[in-house]
Amino acid sequence: MAELVFFSGTMDCGKSTLALQMDHNHSARGRVGLIFTKMDRAGSNVLSSRLGLSRRALEVSDDLDLWDAVVQCATAGRRVDYLVCDEAQFYSAAQVEQLARVVDEMDIDVFAFGITADFRTELFPGSKRLLELADRVQALQVEALCWCGRRGTTNARVVDGAMVVEGEQVVVGDTQSGRQGAVEYEVLCRRHYMRRMTAQAARSAALSPEVLPFDLDVCALPPRPITQSD
Ligand SMILES: [Zn+2]
Repeated sequence: MAELVFFSGTMDCGKSTLALQMDHNHSARGRVGLIFTKMDRAGSNVLSSRLGLSRRALEVSDDLDLWDAVVQCATAGRRVDYLVCDEAQFYSAAQVEQLARVVDEMDIDVFAFGITADFRTELFPGSKRLLELADRVQALQVEALCWCGRRGTTNARVVDGAMVVEGEQVVVGDTQSGRQGAVEYEVLCRRHYMRRMTAQAARSAALSPEVLPFDLDVCALPPRPITQSD
């Protein structure tokens, strides 16, 4: 029986590496798959991992109907046993529903990989629908760590070196930092996310004479609480 499985994690937790490994394991057993991704760090039509591996992939554009795409392959006589779908947080809710239909009506396994929450700690639409519809949700075992060593559970957005909690939901990080307006992401534990304490902020605070070392862990909450309207 085919399944819709959602492998979830934060950034830097090795999702894309696992996606490539999953494809490798299944194809080594003679199964044939299709690989989809969206806005991979290496560009269009490629699934790449931080460890340096990459494979060609089909780019999921906003208007792609995943059900139609798979049906077309099957109609053209191509065998499809499974789909590997990376960066699934960026898919629309409708595209996730198309994936569920592929599982149920074509008996094709779908392995989706994605980040659950955005830089405001709110669910991405694709991840939300996957959590709602998946047969199984599996949290990835390799965990990214906050600078303090705790489990990193949030993805903070850092613009020009300062953490922000407002802005567009999807902004791809800059690979060259130092540029003006450069957007970067940093994995933080919840405690340091709430305190807006990035590695850099922690370093500057530690160097500042008016902050005693223990203040790093008891520092006051930011003036504005995080609200839904953020
Ligand atoms: Zn921390």
